[in-house]
Amino acid sequence: MADVGIVGAGFIGLASAGWLMRDGHRVTLFDPSGVAQGASFGNAGTFAPYGCIPVNNPSVFRDLPRFLLSNTSPFRMRWGYLPHLLPWLARFMLSSTQRRYEASAGALAALLAQAQAGYAPLLEEPELAKFVRPRECLYLYSSGASFDASRASLDLREQLGVSFEVLRGEDVRELEPSLAPIFERAVLFSNSWHFSDPQAYLRTLHDTLAARGLKLERKSVNGISSAPDGVALTTDDGMSRHFDHVVIATGARSAKLAEQCGDRVPLDTERGYHVRYRGASQLISRPCGWAERGFYMTPMEDGIRVAGTVELGGFTETRNRSLIDLLTFSSKRALPGLQQPDSTWLGFRPSLPDGVPVLGRASGNERVIYAFGHQHLGLTLAGVTGRIVADLVARRDSSTGALLDLSRYAPTRF
Ligand SMILES: Cc1cc2nc3c(=O)[nH]c(=O)nc-3n(C[C@H](O)[C@H](O)[C@H](O)COP(=O)(O)OP(=O)(O)OC[C@H]3O[C@@H](n4cnc5c(N)ncnc54)[C@H](O)[C@@H]3O)c2cc1C
Repeated sequence: MADVGIVGAGFIGLASAGWLMRDGHRVTLFDPSGVAQGASFGNAGTFAPYGCIPVNNPSVFRDLPRFLLSNTSPFRMRWGYLPHLLPWLARFMLSSTQRRYEASAGALAALLAQAQAGYAPLLEEPELAKFVRPRECLYLYSSGASFDASRASLDLREQLGVSFEVLRGEDVRELEPSLAPIFERAVLFSNSWHFSDPQAYLRTLHDTLAARGLKLERKSVNGISSAPDGVALTTDDGMSRHFDHVVIATGARSAKLAEQCGDRVPLDTERGYHVRYRGASQLISRPCGWAERGFYMTPMEDGIRVAGTVELGGFTETRNRSLIDLLTFSSKRALPGLQQPDSTWLGFRPSLPDGVPVLGRASGNERVIYAFGHQHLGLTLAGVTGRIVADLVARRDSSTGALLDLSRYAPTRF
């Protein structure tokens, strides 16, 4: 039994805590904002085992210039951030060639294939399982041409083991009658589901683990160094703590801590937004994504959450009004029964330029384990990530280790 410190209490930190505690370890979480406050707070809530197609794919060479200049595009750039972003962007473009895109898709698919099993121990208790809504996600296309353009990526999904059904407009209307009759085609993804309230789920997971001994310290970790037989963490109050192992699960903010552990990782953020329509959940029965507009509408406990878009622009809290407007007018066009959103949110996805997370040991200290960079899939991949973290701490490669070649997720791959 070891003492393990986890930095970051989002989906990845909490899932890692769950798996580590199954192995009997004593776990302490560090997060100044408490549980589920980062990107984990406001995501679309979908468990998306079909999500193996990364944003870096060959279509960016064709679509990026149009995307960046159109005001109905869900993909934007804060131009003032461009000089800072250039090295990331160059790597992103290089990762979008057919060969590298397929490698990224394969690496994601290998994780996604175990994503459901990864959640099993995190959904065991009825008070956790009650947040799962087992309704398959529907991905909508308002034009036949854009559906045709997505054919190659659907074929790749199929090759990588994703199963789905292609629907016509009339099938969509039968399935979700409140949707406007503007969708020509759709894809219904098997084995997908969503959380009715991702934040409440994580809080409940935290409370369940806390009852078994998990500790949460509301402190920021600003220093990490090697100590005899372990790792020392320094927190913002100047205190130092010693652990046998440390997990870095600080989402989009992980690069600085990784650098202290000997790894320069090109982590940046894809900013995303949500707007919420309180009390409108009865309009749809499942997450409905609109492909051309880059968002999901998910029926949740407190209303419909419309979440998505990608904005490259760093960590400023300043919100892009036109993206919030895009989410609002597009969701009302898709679901005419919606009234006015009552709240909005900006979140920071942790994104590597090749769309693949960093999972593995730090170069400077093998007792430090990285678990960050899950981009659009952190909720989906939380369970399998926790399992990999626990395997690494236990030096066990019997479960995920034997099935996964972890070198694909190494911090040194760049
Ligand atoms: C609009 C949007 C929609 C999305 N929809 C989905 C979806 O439907 N399905 C899906 O699978 N994924 C989705 N995602 C992605 C998903 O939300 C993220 O990948 C996931 O939340 C990342 O989790 P995390 O635990 O790595 O990071 P976070 O949730 O960001 O947590 C990191 C935590 O680390 C803490 N921290 C940072 N620095 C320090 C430090 N120095 N010391 C201590 N603590 C620190 C932060 O306070 C934060 O709480 C979406 C994201 C967005 C933005």
